[in-house]
Amino acid sequence: MQNLKIIWFKKFVKYFIQALFWTKDFKNLIINEFKRETVEFLKPFSLKTNFLKCFLFLDSMTDDIDYTPLLLKRSLREPYKTDVRQQDAAEFGVHLFEDMENNFDPEEYKQIKEIFYGMSKSTFICKNCEKQTKGPDEEFMYITLNFEDNRQAKMKDEIEKMIERHQMKEQITFNCEQCQKTTQSTRTLQFSKLPKNIIMQINRFEFQQGVRSKINDQINLKAIIKIQEEDKDLNYELYAVLIHFGEIPDAGHYTIYCKVDKNWYRFDDNQVNKIDGDFDIIQRNFKKEETPYLLFFRRKNN
Ligand SMILES: [Zn+2]
Repeated sequence: MQNLKIIWFKKFVKYFIQALFWTKDFKNLIINEFKRETVEFLKPFSLKTNFLKCFLFLDSMTDDIDYTPLLLKRSLREPYKTDVRQQDAAEFGVHLFEDMENNFDPEEYKQIKEIFYGMSKSTFICKNCEKQTKGPDEEFMYITLNFEDNRQAKMKDEIEKMIERHQMKEQITFNCEQCQKTTQSTRTLQFSKLPKNIIMQINRFEFQQGVRSKINDQINLKAIIKIQEEDKDLNYELYAVLIHFGEIPDAGHYTIYCKVDKNWYRFDDNQVNKIDGDFDIIQRNFKKEETPYLLFFRRKNN
């Protein structure tokens, strides 16, 4: 099992790419679907070329291919190219997708977006006249989940509850057409289109008295969850969990768990360990500071 063994850039960069590699549809696009003829020869240093080479290297399961992941590193933007400063894994994902948009053919990038981007829609209900107004569809790459404000209970938060909270009613001021003025209204969020693969970001960083600190609370992850797209339930299966160790967001250690075929593996620096058992076993054995930060889910055929 390849693990981008050579010591290269920030851990989360290689683990994020590792998670993309284990995203079957994405891997298939890169290795089998995208136009290759111009890539390797005309643009040897492009992000697309180096994605292809990196994926072929990971796919080979050997060290034979003449390839160094350093080339992929060089095709990333700063600060990832030279590690000039610390960055955040979720932010890296956003930057990586922006760079893919600039480096891949528009048609190809559209296919990448199909895999990871969803649409949500807000509904506003005026408290004055009860008129419902639908907002426009908004694109999302992450579903960002927050811990409950009151965390005194010390109960593990469940992922489905966190999703509900993300969609939950929120009181805001809104310009009501019927009342012709700004009124108090209730806003709820619905997913109008869920992508094949959903990346969820657990918002672990909060500001307390001007200092950014980390929430180390554990969550209760389930291997399969239900999420509503409009009125239908879709099942999603967990297949990669990026872990952040440590107290502060801009430093610390990262590892990743990935499900490959039927088994879970833990990737940590140069070590790859097969886990005996399912994800429940993994999370039961989490150390105190071993906290899931990015979760990758794929749609199951219902
Ligand atoms: Zn109104």
